Amino acid sequence: MSVERLRIAVQSKGRLADASLSLFEKTGLRFRRDKDELLFRVEDQPIDVLRVRDDDIVQFVLSGTCELGFVGANVYEEALLDHDRPDTEIVARLGFGRCALKIAAPRAFDYAGPKSLAGLRVATSHPNLLKRFLSDNDVEARVVELAGSVEVAPRLGIADAVCDLVSTGATLEANGLRAVDTVLESEAVLVGSTRALSGELGEAREKFLRRLDGVLATQGTKYIMMNAPETAIGEITEILPGADAPTVVPLASRQGSVAVHAVCQESVFWETLERLKAAGASAILVLPIEKMMM
Ligand code: ATP
Ligand code: ZN
Repeated sequence: MSVERLRIAVQSKGRLADASLSLFEKTGLRFRRDKDELLFRVEDQPIDVLRVRDDDIVQFVLSGTCELGFVGANVYEEALLDHDRPDTEIVARLGFGRCALKIAAPRAFDYAGPKSLAGLRVATSHPNLLKRFLSDNDVEARVVELAGSVEVAPRLGIADAVCDLVSTGATLEANGLRAVDTVLESEAVLVGSTRALSGELGEAREKFLRRLDGVLATQGTKYIMMNAPETAIGEITEILPGADAPTVVPLASRQGSVAVHAVCQESVFWETLERLKAAGASAILVLPIEKMMM
């Protein structure tokens, strides 16, 4: 009898590929890679990782070829607009691949809101999201659909403005464009079908999602420890970013002094350490957290 395996689609090459695989590895999954690298088998669990172009991932999840997929929210939202009642959902936001789908125009373009696009040609590889943006703003413009190299469209004379993904803005600048409006904020997301999975598949999905939650929960979180006078605990607790109940332990050798340990849910900056020190803390240590299960 063949064992059912959970299939998860990830981008094989490109901006999301490495971070997706590394997130997998952090959940403790070890792969056996096959020669053509299309499919990675997880060794000790019924999970296969399908490595494909990002454009195909949503379709794979929608059609039931894969149960889960790692993809840019922009790709997901764009694909969803082609479907009436998709039985898929965003299961988790992954915190990498951050970018925004923006309207950008040549520097000389005098942009005073979406209405400035009326009657013009806007090039994009996200036609559905652009059309929604235009209709939400009650603007009629021509959507010029391109598969890639959207940013060169104005220079080629085939569009007056673009609707393209931007992270640092360097590509826009290199093409004489500037971002003037935001259509969608994006990051990598885990999408999954809303169909119920039973038996081994359901268990594999639950276990994977639980572990992924544990990995995501530690992102940006830090473990912080310090010594402090007992009288300073109130002030120190207030300074600690996103930590609710620190553990306070008396120090055997020093009367009136305690060790304070806490999990901080937000970044710990040098300024925070300086404030803790000013409040009386000493020997302050900040450590990364590798795994967490609540
Ligand atoms: P594929 O070969 O898989 O079709 P692609 O060329 O379509 O790849 P990439 O350029 O690798 O796609 O981008 C994948 C995703 O990375 C985008 O859909 C987006 O969610 C995210 N991303 C993050 N920053 C940027 C950026 N500056 N430009 C484009 N995409 C970005
Ligand atoms: Zn693509």
